[in-house]
Amino acid sequence: MSICASIENIRKEIPPQVRLIAVSKKKGVDLIMQAFDCGQRAFGENYVQELIEKRPQLPSEIEWHFIGHLQSNKVKYIAPFVSWIHGVDSLKLLNEINRQALKHQRKISCLLQMHLGDEETKHGFSLNEADAIAENILAMSLEGVHVCGVMGMGSFSDDSSITAIEFTALASVFNQLKTKYFHQHPHFKEISMGMSGDYAIAVNKGSTMVRIGSNIFGNR
Ligand SMILES: *Cc1c(COP(=O)(O)O)cnc(C)c1O
Repeated sequence: MSICASIENIRKEIPPQVRLIAVSKKKGVDLIMQAFDCGQRAFGENYVQELIEKRPQLPSEIEWHFIGHLQSNKVKYIAPFVSWIHGVDSLKLLNEINRQALKHQRKISCLLQMHLGDEETKHGFSLNEADAIAENILAMSLEGVHVCGVMGMGSFSDDSSITAIEFTALASVFNQLKTKYFHQHPHFKEISMGMSGDYAIAVNKGSTMVRIGSNIFGNR
């Protein structure tokens, strides 16, 4: 199937208010341009080096989402242009994103990565740390970031009922944080969950952003 047809199929399956992030890691700029030419504007990348090599060859209208694990010492390379950082997994990282964004007089939208189930990567806050993290964030002065919600990955189980339980848990942590801490923060409204294999479940459980790679660009 063509990249365009794949994007159109996914768009038909998800509600219009759910944002589709096309995950282009390990895919060349030619393929990204095919997606761009069918109207796709939000792209997700996992590796800093790859992103900074590809970006200058691509249209400036692209909204870049950094979705991989990000080391604090690499924030400076993407802070001048990145719109969203999905994998914020420490307050140290959040602080550094804020510092670098301010240098460029920007606001970077950030999502708190929550660790669900036994996914391979152990990055992210645990669900029972969520309250403490939120209290810390509210006590920080963060003029360079918008804290916009949470992000999580299902545990790649073949059992869709396990994925459903994990996504339900993520949505419930989001709701708890919104009610207790972020009710006066209009930007705090996003739940980034759902990939090629599980985005239908994620949308069913309240996802507002799905991050889809292989279903658009083919296997990596
Ligand atoms: C690679 C990746 C995706 C996309 O995965 P697919 O299964 O190819 O859709 C989504 N989110 C994150 C964090 C990823 O690393």
